[in-house]
Amino acid sequence: MAELVIAGYAIDDKLLARKPIRRCRLEACQAACCSDGVWVDHAQAERILAHAALIQPFLPEARRDPSQWFAELHEDPTFPSGRCIGTTTVADPTHPNGSTCIFLRPSDRRCAIQAACLAAGRPAWELKPYYCCLFPLVDEEGEGSGARRLTLDDENDLFRRGGGCYELCAEAQPVFQVYAEETALALGLEGYRQLCQHAGVAPRL
Ligand code: SF4
Ligand code: SF4
Repeated sequence: MAELVIAGYAIDDKLLARKPIRRCRLEACQAACCSDGVWVDHAQAERILAHAALIQPFLPEARRDPSQWFAELHEDPTFPSGRCIGTTTVADPTHPNGSTCIFLRPSDRRCAIQAACLAAGRPAWELKPYYCCLFPLVDEEGEGSGARRLTLDDENDLFRRGGGCYELCAEAQPVFQVYAEETALALGLEGYRQLCQHAGVAPRL
């Protein structure tokens, strides 16, 4: 069957599969996905640093020094700026995994970057790393048509450790509908609605 391509992305069958699942609750997953930090496009990291004063009040005092926030700059042509850098990880004995990304608040397991934007009346995902906003969806190098592939990241150690990102429920729906906001982030709103039309479901957004 021909590959479904929308807004430049090949849509993985995993996203079209119907499953009786709903989004996980933060209280249950404890933001397991934030345990290891994340690779960020260097330009995006610079943007976060330029907004340090906005973000600092949302972190515990010991984590407010911006020079501690990122480490390990690498050349990487898969990132838009050609370079990426990692958010640092710090020990957090209150987290089930024992360590987390420096930006994960121990008090409520929310991302300080997102919390700061929301408190300032800015869009929640304005400064948060793109990879984090999209997760548990991921975009990867594609095959076949050459388009990048949008898929669900469900085959990794994170899922085995309990960051399942979904709970079982009674109503089956296409997986992309569970993650409608993330799908729309990658495909754009029009692309998301096109996918709904293809799957024969009413758009949630
Ligand atoms: S930047 Fe925020 S969302 Fe991304 S891993 Fe760190 S705490 Fe989690
Ligand atoms: S993406 Fe998954 S592991 Fe991360 S906070 Fe959401 S439900 Fe939890």
